[in-house]
Amino acid sequence: MIVQNPLLGPMTSALATPLPRVLRPKRALPADSVRPTRAEVNLANLRHNLRVVQRAAGDAHVWAVLKADGYGHGAKAVARTLERAGAQGICVALLEEGVELREAGIKTPILVMGGYYGRAYGELLRHDLIPVVSDLGQIEAMAEEVRFSGSEAARVHLKVDTGMSRLGALPNDVRKLAEVLRLRPELKLHGLMTHFACADLDDPDTIARQLEIFEVATTELAELGLRPEVRHAANSAALLAHAPSCLDVVRPGIALFGVAPGRVACPELRAVMSVRSELISVREIGAGQGVGYGWTWRAPRVTRVATVPMGYADGLSRGLSNKGHVLVRGRRAPIIGVVSMDMTMIDVTDIPGAELGDEAVLMGTQRGLLGEDTISSAEIAEHLGTIPWEVLTAISRRVPRFYREP
Ligand SMILES: *Cc1c(COP(=O)(O)O)cnc(C)c1O
Repeated sequence: MIVQNPLLGPMTSALATPLPRVLRPKRALPADSVRPTRAEVNLANLRHNLRVVQRAAGDAHVWAVLKADGYGHGAKAVARTLERAGAQGICVALLEEGVELREAGIKTPILVMGGYYGRAYGELLRHDLIPVVSDLGQIEAMAEEVRFSGSEAARVHLKVDTGMSRLGALPNDVRKLAEVLRLRPELKLHGLMTHFACADLDDPDTIARQLEIFEVATTELAELGLRPEVRHAANSAALLAHAPSCLDVVRPGIALFGVAPGRVACPELRAVMSVRSELISVREIGAGQGVGYGWTWRAPRVTRVATVPMGYADGLSRGLSNKGHVLVRGRRAPIIGVVSMDMTMIDVTDIPGAELGDEAVLMGTQRGLLGEDTISSAEIAEHLGTIPWEVLTAISRRVPRFYREP
């Protein structure tokens, strides 16, 4: 059963709805879309993947990473589903992403990991968002905001850079920060975290090395009487492949969306998003005729060309020109010519009976008259020389998300 977007949130009166402070572009809603192109998000598979992750994580709590609009799946819908299914927390990258989830009624702890709060520390407090801090400026600004607003002590997570060289306090600076934190009753050091650089290479050595540095930082804090309630480090790859990295909390992103990260195998995971459309035009062209801008593909024989209304502006990369495939009637049809902004042509000569209105699957599984096949985000990523994370987050806001509850 396909349910039309049930995610417009709890009914609130116009008066009760706070004015949004951050302007966010709107994504096309199912009801607004006439074009048949859509992303289907299978919430049952999402819950299944949560159970797979929970099993791998043992006693550790799961804080789902829902940055970038829930990896393109729609953060609000995904957060509601995972919260109900037992995820104990949520991590986002941007303050704006955290605000969006609070305004959607999410109650679970939300950790803002991006490390940039501008002058919006008040927003963190107002929306009960937990900031990740890693320098003195952030600690003082947060403490001052708490003093200024007269609110109770605010939770923060301290990040240590154990090897990623991206965000976090350098190991040598941890003691200095801890000395300051200890003297700030406005702040409660709720968590200590780090992030792995090479977890998806499935190389236990790098993880062990980073964890060692993390342990040293933990000890330094303890010596100053600081004992964070939770310590966390593991992303999807680490939690699936290296159980000792799970600590108190794990931070899975991609695994929840059904993709086994990098070299880590996890066949139980089920893809959550599929991208579907229809053939909106079918024509026969003669041998030698070119297809698309620049005629980069020429028909070697009499060819049936079908047009699918999805292009690079929708997140179907132009890098798939003359490379990728689309499923029709359960069989692969090659993409021919260059992917244009709104449309893509495919060769359906070898798909008997292919006609106007047939379903076209750009990503996902299709069962059809001629068989069954799957185009995974990993396959698309392979064509493009990128990773499934980028393929999923690239599906643009022009593509409406439909939520499926089988
Ligand atoms: C994105 C991110 C994660 C989740 O990573 P996956 O590989 O998608 O599981 C975890 N922690 C941090 C700090 C992140 O930025």
